[in-house]
Amino acid sequence: MPNKKKPIIKKILFILLIPMPIVLMACFQLGKTSLNTELNLLANAYVRQLEEQIDDLRDENKQALYDATSCEQIQKDLLFESFLREMLIVDNGKVVCSSKRTTLEANSVEKLLPSHQINSGEYLFDFPYEKGVIRSLLVIDTDKNNPQRSAISVVDQSYINLHLGLTSDDRIQTLRMVVGGKTYPPHLTTGKQPYSTTAKSSYLNVEVTIEPSAKLKREKLSLFMLIGLPVSLSISMLFYLLQYWSESRGSLIESLKRGLKTDELFLVYQPLIDSTNNKIMGVEALLRWESSKHGFIRPDIFIPIAEQHNFINTITDFVLERALDDWKTVNHQNQLHIGVNIPASYLVDEQCLNKFKIFAKQFKSENLVLGIEITERQLLSEKGRAILSDVRALGIEVSIDDFGTGYTALSVLQDIKFDYLKIDRCFINTIGVESVNAPILNSIISLAHQLEVSIVAEGVETQQQSEYLTSQNVQILQGYYLYKPMPLEAIKNTLHNMI
Ligand code: C2E
Ligand code: CA
Ligand code: CA
Repeated sequence: MPNKKKPIIKKILFILLIPMPIVLMACFQLGKTSLNTELNLLANAYVRQLEEQIDDLRDENKQALYDATSCEQIQKDLLFESFLREMLIVDNGKVVCSSKRTTLEANSVEKLLPSHQINSGEYLFDFPYEKGVIRSLLVIDTDKNNPQRSAISVVDQSYINLHLGLTSDDRIQTLRMVVGGKTYPPHLTTGKQPYSTTAKSSYLNVEVTIEPSAKLKREKLSLFMLIGLPVSLSISMLFYLLQYWSESRGSLIESLKRGLKTDELFLVYQPLIDSTNNKIMGVEALLRWESSKHGFIRPDIFIPIAEQHNFINTITDFVLERALDDWKTVNHQNQLHIGVNIPASYLVDEQCLNKFKIFAKQFKSENLVLGIEITERQLLSEKGRAILSDVRALGIEVSIDDFGTGYTALSVLQDIKFDYLKIDRCFINTIGVESVNAPILNSIISLAHQLEVSIVAEGVETQQQSEYLTSQNVQILQGYYLYKPMPLEAIKNTLHNMI
């Protein structure tokens, strides 16, 4: 029997594997976008902070250049400006005033900043101090009325460190300021990492590059991955349901066609019991489909689908061939009746009689009698009725199946020659139960006796039913009380045990 679990596992894996990477990638991208947005906002905030401070310094420069009446006043005004290391007024390349709050040697400025370089703007310069070189931020403004005169604000290094170099923001791992091509902190290299983000001032020569901390990366990226997992699982589920739904509807016939080729269809046999001696006089062949894709499918489902798609005749050929092949391997002493369900379309096929002729001969040579079971409905067509005598002439026994469920007038039966009348199980069910149908069962039985055809009672489920039918001279019994449909090997054993 085919193992249906493997393809299902394969399918589930397939369904999981398709949306999962896509959704996870999409979520990862969302995480990246959200991280970049946050970094951009942060970098721009730092740029704005620098802009504000530089603008403040510029105001101080202008005050010193245009408003201060003396160097003492400048020193007094700037006494409490914590972020200012020193302000210098340079005239003609020489320091003419210094706020002198630091150890910066005013003269060194002349060496580092020749007069032609002292132009308005922002710069990073390396000043030699007692303890070494210190990179400092300079904001220079030139006197509009005297281009030789400038004010230079030197930003206190601890102030830059506090606001840039040594940021306490746990979202940031490194922060670098670039002013006029020089960087602060001097030896910090950033910008090569995948998430480093740069923001530039629109009007100053200043930019800021930041790199996110591991914490921020984790927060942003893993949050989206965490959302991605349930989302992708839900999409997978939806995929699976959609696929299951479309497969179970649309492609059942395709699966059936494939299943026939790949040996998913097989026959089981339900014994027919002769009530006069309790012996098996024959069997009914019943088709089973164990689909590798859909699992077990009942014949009531796949037979109508095969009929709708004109595939039922191929199926019937298969049943006839398989029944013959199966029973060739069965060791039996008495002649046995092998009943096969034949749909309407098979009977009207022009190849039908030729095929039956060959099959009848082949069954006969195995000491078997081929029986065909046709439903009452099939008797409604004249063509269907006409073929029956030809079929019987080939030695094939004809059973009228599910009798009583159609709309055939009982009198129609008088004009048709057949061998067995199979009374539908809904009438057998009425035995022992008070029901309006019970008299119908009795009249069907007496009609069959009048027509001198054998009766097969279908769906005998209880001892009471079996005994009642036997007492009414119903010759053949079929039903779960006697035997359930069984695989070939089981019927072989049953027959063997009866010998
Ligand atoms: P059916 O021809 O009337 O077949 C008899 C059905 O009654 C079988 O169902 C059988 O398992 C069931 N049955 C037998 N004894 C009892 C019983 O005591 N109680 C109850 N409740 N049921 C019993 P199954 O095998 O499920 O087949 C259902 C139907 O599918 C068949 O009804 C037949 O119309 C169709 N079918 C089965 N095999 C074939 C086939 O090879 N070709 C065609 N054309 N139709 C088939
Ligand atoms: Ca039948
Ligand atoms: Ca039946």
